[in-house]
Amino acid sequence: LTNNISSSFIVTSGCSDVEIPNVTFPEFISTYHNKYEKFTAAECSVTKRKYTYGEIRSRSSNLAKAFRKIFKLQNGDVVAIILKNIPEYPIADLGVLKANLISTTVSPIFTADEISRQLIGSNAKAVITDVDLSTTVSKALSIIAKKLPMLTIKTSKDQYLPENAIDFHELVSTTVDFPDIQPCSPNDVAFMPYSSGTTGFPKGVEITHRNLVSNILQPSHEEFDYMSDATDNFQEELPAVVPLYHVFGHTMIMNYLPLRGGKMITLPGFSVNSYISLMKEYQKSTIFFMAPPLFLFMIEHDSVKREYLKNARVMSNGAAPLAASDENRFIEKFGDHITIIQGYGLTEMCPVCTLCPKIMENEKVYRGSVGRPIPNTQVKIVNPKDAENTALGPNIRGELLVKGPQLMKGYRNLPEETKKTITDDGWLRTGDTSYYNEQGFLFIVDRFKDLIKVRGNQVAPAEMEGIIRTFPGVADAAVIGIPDKYSGELPRAYIVPKDGTEVDIKLLDQFVTEKVAKYKQLKGGIVVVKEIPKNPSGKILRKNIRDTYLEKGI
Ligand code: AMP
Repeated sequence: LTNNISSSFIVTSGCSDVEIPNVTFPEFISTYHNKYEKFTAAECSVTKRKYTYGEIRSRSSNLAKAFRKIFKLQNGDVVAIILKNIPEYPIADLGVLKANLISTTVSPIFTADEISRQLIGSNAKAVITDVDLSTTVSKALSIIAKKLPMLTIKTSKDQYLPENAIDFHELVSTTVDFPDIQPCSPNDVAFMPYSSGTTGFPKGVEITHRNLVSNILQPSHEEFDYMSDATDNFQEELPAVVPLYHVFGHTMIMNYLPLRGGKMITLPGFSVNSYISLMKEYQKSTIFFMAPPLFLFMIEHDSVKREYLKNARVMSNGAAPLAASDENRFIEKFGDHITIIQGYGLTEMCPVCTLCPKIMENEKVYRGSVGRPIPNTQVKIVNPKDAENTALGPNIRGELLVKGPQLMKGYRNLPEETKKTITDDGWLRTGDTSYYNEQGFLFIVDRFKDLIKVRGNQVAPAEMEGIIRTFPGVADAAVIGIPDKYSGELPRAYIVPKDGTEVDIKLLDQFVTEKVAKYKQLKGGIVVVKEIPKNPSGKILRKNIRDTYLEKGI
């Protein structure tokens, strides 16, 4: 690698850029589906259901035609995918894209309330789910009072489809008589995950076909790619434990693997036992994409044996920070045949911005670093108060700004929010505090945006505060994240009771617990206060609340 810091302190990959073809994602991926058609693409670690790349290709095409012919969906309509990690995920997602529709992926552990909010926000015209989740999804559909087609996957033979559900398997196995669908433009939106960004409520992040193609090709540069192509004697095996609805699993596992003809081993829902069974059974696994809680679990759980990782070459961390000391403990337990690499990204960048290049394999001094920008990506560190966004030199902490072809088009129907997040000259404000060293390696040191991350999942304070304020007797509320060894952070609420009222904390806790996914629950506690600190324009000063907590524990 050549020096990757410019004289004006713009940090890049230090390698040549990759060429990004002007094609849609289905056009791009079809090359690899053809090349690896006989190889298994995805297998369920529990039921052993599996599909080859050829099957994913044909079933997703059938699904695309069904969307057009049977459900009469039109270019740009949105389909919500509400699925756990199952081998049908790529069929569902690609079927949507092949029909020139937009997929919005929803967390499978969301409550009906949370699902209904994303269905309304995205204006979804159909949903894809499975039998186990169908009761919650039906409830969400009745909240929004819409009769959307509910394509439902049976995940075992003995399941029955609920009333009004459409059999997904039947649909994708039937060739529909419909002319081939002409591809849309690479600049059209293909994928719309939700992210709260630096502030406010979860928003639809518009990711174009071009963004998707870029963010798959960028890390495939030989300096950053740790995978080998499938051959008659070898195939990369990769457990998909991080959720596929989240952009990290979606891009780095599900969309990236076809490039190398790898096999994705899906785990539908994490539990200690199911994960240990997976590792025991799939000891051929070569590459793992994980978030910090999984690293900690593997380090500290005695029943995760060293031999389970005998074929592992690379463990890749993303979504939240992994300390250098934890990297070391992991290698001590499992052996130095494993390379730990870290990557940094965010939903708005599709997500990958930086990765550890191969040069680091022998450079243990960079433990704890998230690596260098990937090809075609520029990074700079600025003082968040500097209106000019002047790039700062090495070893100075500031806000991380990123630019590249993987940058989202914007937040759906929210031009003002988009304008606040992307500068006029195309840099994304990440809301993360970072610095780079003299060798151009980046370190993420803090997050100053409102976003809370619990075990790699997003919790938007504004959303939580909105729910808490609907509880009788609550006048005002603020939610922050407090540090936690296993989860990274835990949500903690500060509430102001209405004059003359006493709020029953236990009941409030129960109320919130029923309304939100497990990782959003107020496990960091609920505290009654006299007032919430705000700036003159009424913005909650969450950083002040957090600083007080860190200093005084209150
Ligand atoms: P999301 O959009 O859900 O992927 O969340 C993005 C945020 O997660 C980033 O802005 C960071 O705050 C955090 N994040 C992602 N990757 C890392 C990492 N490797 N180290 C530290 N924080 C990270």
